[in-house]
Amino acid sequence: MTLQKKLAILADAAKYDASCASSGGERRDSSNSKSALGSSGGSGICHSYAPDGRCISLLKILFTNACIYDCHYCINRRSSDTPRARFTVDEVVQLTLDFYKRNYIEGLFLSSGIIRNPDHTMEQVVAIVKKLRKEHEFRGYIHLKTIPEASQELIDEAGRYADRISINIELPTQQGLEKLAPEKNLRRTRQAMGGIRYRIEEDREIRREKSTKKPKPFAPAGQSTQMIIGADGANDSDILHRSNDLYRSYKLRRVYYSAYSPIPDSSPILPAKSPPLVREHRLYQADWLLRYYGFDVQEIAGAETPNLDLEIDPKLSWALRNRSHFPVDVNLAGKEELLRIPGLGVRSVQRILAMRRHKLLRLDDILKLRVSSKNCLPFLTTFDYHPSPSLLESEQLRQRFLPPPEQLELNFATPSATNETQSAALTGEF
Ligand code: SF4
Repeated sequence: MTLQKKLAILADAAKYDASCASSGGERRDSSNSKSALGSSGGSGICHSYAPDGRCISLLKILFTNACIYDCHYCINRRSSDTPRARFTVDEVVQLTLDFYKRNYIEGLFLSSGIIRNPDHTMEQVVAIVKKLRKEHEFRGYIHLKTIPEASQELIDEAGRYADRISINIELPTQQGLEKLAPEKNLRRTRQAMGGIRYRIEEDREIRREKSTKKPKPFAPAGQSTQMIIGADGANDSDILHRSNDLYRSYKLRRVYYSAYSPIPDSSPILPAKSPPLVREHRLYQADWLLRYYGFDVQEIAGAETPNLDLEIDPKLSWALRNRSHFPVDVNLAGKEELLRIPGLGVRSVQRILAMRRHKLLRLDDILKLRVSSKNCLPFLTTFDYHPSPSLLESEQLRQRFLPPPEQLELNFATPSATNETQSAALTGEF
C-alpha cells in the first residue's frame, strides 16, 4: 500500500477524535467541482490551541486503525470491515518532518488502535516521538493519545516526549462502558490518569527546586480526555458529574465532548441518529460554568432537570429557575454573585470590579463592556437603572431569550450551533 493511501485511511480514521477538533461549522467540499477550492470537512490537519494560546495546525493521524478491541461505537473496532492500514515508525516520523518543513503543520496529534497488546502498541507510539525528539530534534507540539492498559513505564516515557498526553474516558458511566466498550476498564483508565497527574505534579515540584538538574518536562501542556455524547443513555447530569470528578481528581486541562455520529455498519445497540450538535455545545458551556464561574453540577443539571436546556445557555437557564437571586446590584455584589448574572463573562466581571473602585456604575458603564444587554438587563441594577420587578416575575421572560423561529429547511440538515452560541463557547463569556 502506498504511503499516500495509508495517509488517506489513517487521517480519515483519526477524524472521530474530537480532542482537537472544531465542530458546528458547515460542511463544504470541493472534490466534485472543477473550479472550487478547499474543504471544511476533510481530515488530516486539525487545529489546536498551544499552552500560550496560539492556534496551531497539527498532523492528525492514527498509527494504525487495526484494533483488537471491539468498542461498538468505533469505526476501527475488530468486527468493522473498514479498510485497514498501518504506518511504520519511520513513516510517521518522515511524514511529520516533511509536513513540518513545508510549513503545513506545527505539530503532531497521534493516536492508535491497539495491535497485538497495549504495551506493544504503546512501544511503537513512544518510538515515534522518541525518534522525532532525539534523532531529529523536533521541537514542534506533540499531543499523544495513550493507551490506559499500557504499562506505567511506557506512559511515563511518552510524557517525557509529548507536550500533552490524553486518555479517552469514552463514556460517562460504568454501565455505558460495560455495554458499549466491554473490553475497556474504567478502573485502569483512572489509575493511568492518576499516574499522569502524579508525574506532572512531581515534575513541577522538581522544576521549583532551583539547584537540581532538571529532567525533560513531563507533559507540560497537561492531560485531557474525551467523552462520547449520545451513544449511551447517560443524561447531561451524568456527563457533567463525570467531568467534574475528572477535573478534581486528575487536574485535567480539558474534557472534550464529542457528539456520537453513526458509523457505517454500526451495531444495532447504538442509536440510529446523532444527538443534536447543540447538546455538545451546551455541555461545553456548562463545563465552563463548573471550571470558571463557581457553579456546582447540581445547580446546572440536577435531579429535577438532568438535561440541559437546548434553547438557552445553562447560565441563563439557571437564572430563570432561580429568579429570587436577582436583580443583582453591580455596585455592591461580590464577584461570585456578579459571575452568576447572565451575559456577564469573567472578563466583564473583572472590569466591573476594577471600575467600581473609582465610581458608582451606571447603565452606560455596563453597556460599554459590550455585554449581551438582552441577557443581562433583566437581572441587574445599576445606580441609574432598576428593571421593573414585574419583568423578572413575568411568565413570558423566557420567551424573550429564545432564538427566532426558523423556516424548516427542506433538506432537514442536522441543526448546528448558532453563531451567537459558538462565539460564546470560544470566548467563554456568557
Ligand atoms: S480501543 Fe480505541 S480504536 Fe480500538 S475499538 Fe476501542 S475505541 Fe476503537
